Amino acid sequence: MALVVQKFGGTSVADPQKIQAAARKAIARHEAGDQVVVVVSAMGHQTDILVDLAKQITDRPSAREMDMLLSTGEQVSVALFAMAIQAAGRKAVSLTGAQIGIRTDSTHTKARIKSISTDHVRNLLADGAIVIAAGFQGIDQNGNITTLGRGGSDTTAVALAAVLDADLCEIYTDVDGIYTTDPRILPEARRLGSISYDEMLELASLGAGVMHSRSIEFAKKFGVKVVVRSSFKDMPGTLILAADQAVRRPASGVALAKDEARITLEGAPDQPGSSHALFSALAESGIAVDMIVQNVGQGGQADISFTVPEDDLVVALEHTKRVAAAIGAAGVSHDHGVAKVSVVGVGMADAEGVAGRMFSALSKEKINVHMITTSEIKISALVDRVDGAAAVRAAHQAFSLDRAQGELPHEATGAALPKSSPLEVVRRLEGMEDLAIEDCLLDSSQALVTFTDLPDTPGVAAEVFEEVGRAGLNVDMIVQSNPRGGRAEISFTVPADSREQAIHVAEKIAAARGASVADVPHVAKLSITGVGIRSHAGVADRLFKPLADAGINIDLVSTSEVRLNVIVAAEHGEQSLAVLRKAFGV
Ligand code: ASP
Ligand code: MG
Repeated sequence: MALVVQKFGGTSVADPQKIQAAARKAIARHEAGDQVVVVVSAMGHQTDILVDLAKQITDRPSAREMDMLLSTGEQVSVALFAMAIQAAGRKAVSLTGAQIGIRTDSTHTKARIKSISTDHVRNLLADGAIVIAAGFQGIDQNGNITTLGRGGSDTTAVALAAVLDADLCEIYTDVDGIYTTDPRILPEARRLGSISYDEMLELASLGAGVMHSRSIEFAKKFGVKVVVRSSFKDMPGTLILAADQAVRRPASGVALAKDEARITLEGAPDQPGSSHALFSALAESGIAVDMIVQNVGQGGQADISFTVPEDDLVVALEHTKRVAAAIGAAGVSHDHGVAKVSVVGVGMADAEGVAGRMFSALSKEKINVHMITTSEIKISALVDRVDGAAAVRAAHQAFSLDRAQGELPHEATGAALPKSSPLEVVRRLEGMEDLAIEDCLLDSSQALVTFTDLPDTPGVAAEVFEEVGRAGLNVDMIVQSNPRGGRAEISFTVPADSREQAIHVAEKIAAARGASVADVPHVAKLSITGVGIRSHAGVADRLFKPLADAGINIDLVSTSEVRLNVIVAAEHGEQSLAVLRKAFGV
């Protein structure tokens, strides 16, 4: 007998007939001998309708009353769902978040789950009932109703699956799984049979958007096996699981974040504390910074570029200008019409020439790349927004994502908790959704090569990384900061023992285009990995602050959803590691 959590989104319970159809799915599971907990969203667009009602009363509704209002949507759907099951002659009990005991903090309209009690639900299940739980809501320590943020029912479902130690969490929705890219942009996008948590995280907050990214963080943290499938078609869907159980493809998908804006703090003093000054100011104002790129300093100055959602541009720009004046930076530039294209794959590190392939695909389409960041499983390029869709198409084609790449047999139930589940970390947390830093790592085995004065034209990154790939160099981190005065700067790291070869290749490339090459034979790369790095504001600053306090200068920065990487001088490696371990409590 398995325990299965089934979640039905708004479109899956949009009317009484759909509720009855969803109820039949729960009943079928129950009849197969499993215990079933159902989590439901509000019917159809009910939450939007409630938001709109509030707006008609006031344009400044209090957050507490918003939660009181919005939580009613799910209260309606759980009751109807339970009635549908009862009408079919089965036992069902509906419960609100408060009745279950989903405790959250008091951040109304975007509360985070602290704990969930399981006794009540377990007793009902043992009694043979199907439990129907209201998604998206909880209760704070003073008994106030809270909600988890729009789309939060996914998070409720995965969190319940985690605490109940469920065998599977099924997310029923209006799409039939996770695709290699958004099918609305690219009709040849293909449904993936499976994908790892990290790939999903790197894709989710980038706009794949099928699931609330906090729910994937939960799944990863607690090792919950999730399957996303259609409510309306009988198809296997996509399984989301741990990286060591997933297929290692160099590329699993391509994501587009199209509403980005770029800001560059130009000519910041290349000394400890510049990044901290900037990112603490942004964190304090609650602005979620996405890509962060700091180039190698020249003449005592470095450029720090980052992207924010376009809606936050005005406020972020104000803060950046203020910081620029305070620390004596040369200036601030920005661009509001940019988009981020990312290729994601857990097998990226094992494959050769991935960067070359991606950039040559963009180059063939004459797409200029403004910024580049990489993580172990992702390469992101910032391009002009008008080029976004073409860039997705080019990258999708370059990795043949329209064709099947070897899938796991689709086994929908029964997997145990994956070995890599960082449950030890979770046990130390106070709240279930706290930021969980898994590890802080030091890699002192790499050399850094930097091109300065490259022409800022389409195809430059492609030529660099095609050449580097042909030479068989194993590139790890790649960073391109925002070009200035028509010149671009690209840095990459390679294993220190291939440094000579890397310089040789780099000099050849540089000579052909009037650029110069600099290198550092040994650098220290520090990486912070964990869950919640993206969804918790200010994590980047928690990395910059202790380094600044210790007087350690940062040479290069690059970020992703699940990882933060910085490069410092080799002699500061050990000290940086110690400082960061202490700061993050690992
Ligand atoms: N009903 C809520 C919303 O529309 C929660 C959810 O659907 O996940 O955002
Ligand atoms: Mg939803």
